Amino acid sequence: MLQIQENVSLKKFNTFGIDANARYFAEISHEDELAELFADPQWLNINRLVLGGGSNMLLVKDFEGLAIRINIRGIEHRISHDDVFVDVGAGEVWNDLVNFCVDRNYAGMENLSLIPGSVGASPIQNIGAYGVELKDVFASCRAFEIATGTFRTFSKEDCKFGYRESVFKTELAGQYIIVSVKFHLSLRPAINLKYGAIEQELINRGITRPSIEDVSKVVSSIRVSKLPDPSTIGNAGSFFKNPVIGEVQFRLLQGQFPDVVNYPAGEGQYKLAAGWLIEQCGWKGKTVGNTGTWKNQALVLVNHGGATGEEVYSLSSQIIDSVYTKFGVMLQREVNIIS
Ligand SMILES: Cc1cc2nc3c(=O)[nH]c(=O)nc-3n(C[C@H](O)[C@H](O)[C@H](O)COP(=O)(O)OP(=O)(O)OC[C@H]3O[C@@H](n4cnc5c(N)ncnc54)[C@H](O)[C@@H]3O)c2cc1C
Repeated sequence: MLQIQENVSLKKFNTFGIDANARYFAEISHEDELAELFADPQWLNINRLVLGGGSNMLLVKDFEGLAIRINIRGIEHRISHDDVFVDVGAGEVWNDLVNFCVDRNYAGMENLSLIPGSVGASPIQNIGAYGVELKDVFASCRAFEIATGTFRTFSKEDCKFGYRESVFKTELAGQYIIVSVKFHLSLRPAINLKYGAIEQELINRGITRPSIEDVSKVVSSIRVSKLPDPSTIGNAGSFFKNPVIGEVQFRLLQGQFPDVVNYPAGEGQYKLAAGWLIEQCGWKGKTVGNTGTWKNQALVLVNHGGATGEEVYSLSSQIIDSVYTKFGVMLQREVNIIS
């Protein structure tokens, strides 16, 4: 029988370590429990928060609704010639899955090593790092539609993946709960060293013909050196998206700031490094009350201990204002704001 708890602290369920309570809390370990939960109409008419690892959200205050923590486990894998299909419960830890695949030489997700969070959340913002995105290894996902109590399979096209975007964040936001994700990997590694730092680190280690395990190890060590470990210092990774701007705005900006860090994003668009913009406004490593930005990466907001969600949110607004004032570029939050 599914248990609904009341007034549960979400502190250990969000990597920012914000001490906010959920009015109601349910943990789902099997997809059938979702039908059981929503058979009671009171949960259809209340605010809901689906929780994976809580590594991409900021709880601004107590959540006056039902928090649903997804803990559906299981990994099944099947090989067909050089193709590998891995079907994974939404509650599996993302990096455990990466390790499972790397250990078996199933190639494709090694550049996504050490990203915190659950498998079920990975399609929500089409997680990405070091030149690879979730969509590159995604085959399909199975999701529960809350309003109808039925399950639907989403293909890659259905998900409308974009830069840190999917249909689950836009037109279908809040309507589906992902219960499993199927990945398409390969037994023939196509090593992706698009991001120079990986190649350089492999050279430093004297590795000329890297295996996917080498890539995974190098990515993990670069990440550890750059990003704060949420178990030591609360954070949710990059707080803002890298802004993408058009050619005209970019040329004007470059005229004024010749060093502006940018990457061509196709179709005459340019992606700017949000971390650089924030750093230029003097925010890097700055502490404001119990919160601040990370000393090695201004894009990461941190909880120095005891920060409230409101404090972190207010800092993020100040950063957005100062970047806009200096560069005329409006930053967007990548982290989901739960208020
Ligand atoms: C140190 C650090 C580094 C990071 N680096 C990266 C990075 O390199 N690249 C990157 O893309 N991200 C990065 N992130 C962000 C984060 O790891 C990812 O967004 C991750 O996918 C979030 O997973 P989660 O389970 O913690 O999601 P949560 O924070 O629990 O949830 C995120 C969103 O997804 C929804 N959701 C969660 N599970 C489900 C489900 N089963 N069905 C429907 N909706 C669901 C939630 O309601 C919420 O809106 C980083 C975070 C940290 C703390």
